[in-house]
Amino acid sequence: MTDPLLVRLDGSQRQAVTAAELPLAILAGAGSGKTRVLTHRIAWQSREDHIDPAHVLALTFTRKAAGELVTRLGRLGVRDRVTAGTFHAIALAQLRARQRDRGRPMPTLLDRKVRLLAPMLREAGGPSGAEGAVAAMEVAGEIEWAKARLVGPDSYPVVVTAAGREPPLPLSEMTELYRVYEETKRKRRLLDFDDLIIWCGNTLATDGEFRDAQRWRFRHIFVDEFQDVSPAQLQLVKAWLGDRPDLCVVGDPDQAIYGFAGAEAGHLTGFSGLFPGATVVRLDANYRSAPQIVNAARAVLEDGTRQPLPAVRVPQPEGQLPTITTYETDDEEARGVARAVRAAHDSGTPWTRLAVLYRTNAQSVGFEAAFAAANVPCRVRGAGRFLERAEVKAALEALRASVKAAPGTAFKHQLADLAEDVLELAEGRREHVEALIRLGHEYVNAEGSSGSLDGFAAYLNAALRGEDGPQTGDSVELLTFHRAKGLEFETVWVTGLEQGLVPISFADTPAQRAEERRLLYVACSRAERTLHLSWAQERTIGVRVARRRPSPWVAVIHQAISDDPGANRAPVDPREELAKARSRLQSGSRADPALVAALIDWRGNLARAHDITPLLLFDDTTLGHLARSRPATLTALADVPGLSRLTIERYGDAILDLMGRHPARTL
Ligand code: ATP
Ligand code: MG
Repeated sequence: MTDPLLVRLDGSQRQAVTAAELPLAILAGAGSGKTRVLTHRIAWQSREDHIDPAHVLALTFTRKAAGELVTRLGRLGVRDRVTAGTFHAIALAQLRARQRDRGRPMPTLLDRKVRLLAPMLREAGGPSGAEGAVAAMEVAGEIEWAKARLVGPDSYPVVVTAAGREPPLPLSEMTELYRVYEETKRKRRLLDFDDLIIWCGNTLATDGEFRDAQRWRFRHIFVDEFQDVSPAQLQLVKAWLGDRPDLCVVGDPDQAIYGFAGAEAGHLTGFSGLFPGATVVRLDANYRSAPQIVNAARAVLEDGTRQPLPAVRVPQPEGQLPTITTYETDDEEARGVARAVRAAHDSGTPWTRLAVLYRTNAQSVGFEAAFAAANVPCRVRGAGRFLERAEVKAALEALRASVKAAPGTAFKHQLADLAEDVLELAEGRREHVEALIRLGHEYVNAEGSSGSLDGFAAYLNAALRGEDGPQTGDSVELLTFHRAKGLEFETVWVTGLEQGLVPISFADTPAQRAEERRLLYVACSRAERTLHLSWAQERTIGVRVARRRPSPWVAVIHQAISDDPGANRAPVDPREELAKARSRLQSGSRADPALVAALIDWRGNLARAHDITPLLLFDDTTLGHLARSRPATLTALADVPGLSRLTIERYGDAILDLMGRHPARTL
């Protein structure tokens, strides 16, 4: 095999690249080379003259992904001719061209729904200030969901009821707001982003000339991350395609993470039903990650299923076992990660190959501050720009108003009032306002006086320096789990693995929890060589310091790490080997996740009380041994590898006590 476009592909990838059958869906797990197959397919089929790259339309979910696709195609010899972009960007370009051709102005694009919704909510007697801004965001999210599912205000109540969905406002109010929002938009000749998709799809259906022009231009359609396509986007793909079969999609149902926004993974899993005669190809390897990382990430998915996942080939050489670190506080976590990032860089990894991932945007603030202090260059991807966010601006407005209304009141009391206001909102929704309040307290502490609004504004600018405008050059990526989709890094820190964040507090249906589980799988599967996981026992939320519990998936990953064949491969002394074998023989069972969680909790509490690192008591591997072998006596404890004599002397009884409270289950 000497064809340069096929030589770096395995058999099934090659089949997917060269297959003549269309429509074609390529279904496979993270790191299996789906995106690589997509680019190679475009390049190979172009070179073989099966397709003309000038007539290719490649759809992605982010601008960055589109940019990367074009760069990769450039390297494969398909220069500058393929059209690649997000659904929104392509729809906008086509609609704009149509308006221009017809000598009509393009309606104004409404970049944020909350601009329209916040005043509407206020007029309807809803909350104002920060709380109002957050409520408007929730309503905006709900409208986005409805529009992604092609559900207008008329059918909205029926569909919501049938779906068992809980709208952010009472159903009749929500429906009315949705209707008024759509009417206002129409009257003011505004379009939101969802309208672009729907309008483009509808226009293709009704305007023959436009349809013919677009179908002439785009003859070969490719979609990456097809599991996250919404019904509105599917309608658009179908409108572009017409009755031609020339569609190739790639995706992974286990990475479907936009159901909350109306996406429908069933489009991928039911591809043959939607496109009769379609061919489905599966890939079976993970080329991205070391086996230890693949195991840990897959354990998260497997935990939710009754059967094990299909086997996966992992050609990467052995790496390190993932680590799990319990921090005392979220500040400690940010500082600890900053130190570890710096150490990784010092040992030769470029900053851009390192990434820190978290569940919610607001978590970035702590890392930004810690990274600035440790002089680690970082870049916040996506919806960053903390001070630009609607609810943060609204909260600052509210503060300004209350300072004006009661100039005599100390700034910190005004902060406390603001904190009271947001307590009503669900965790994860009030995140940015809470982060702002927290920064306010930091400022008051730093200044050592009661503070002032102007002083706070100056402090904010200093604390978040570097956030405005992406830094160019070499820097660490800070990004949410969602934003990390499709990307890969040598070393990844997956942080904030706590109940309330992972899964997010408002995920309360089984479907929502399953989406949170897949989201964690997406996060963990970004790492190539090294994966670090962490959580904090205390997190400051608004004015409250909240005690935290580890995410239920911490124990699952912990178990996977302890069970990993690599866990026993490290050089050990023969006595330890013997003890290990003995403890394995004694139990033969898997560790009880509840016991693992209890041990982690206990170790963390003790370490906190003594102001030492939990690892001084025992490390994660030892914790795994403890949980599996369930020693019942002090002598048995002494056989657990890695448990020091001192730990046994001081805490042996407590450990045995804990074991006693978690008796072995008979399966
Ligand atoms: P995700 O689901 O996370 O988007 P993916 O399936 O799109 O993953 P890619 O990003 O295409 O996977 O590939 C993962 C990594 O593996 C990339 O670095 C890619 O270059 C590499 N890779 C893919 N196929 C091969 C192969 N046959 N040989 C060597 N490396 C490969
Ligand atoms: Mg990909």
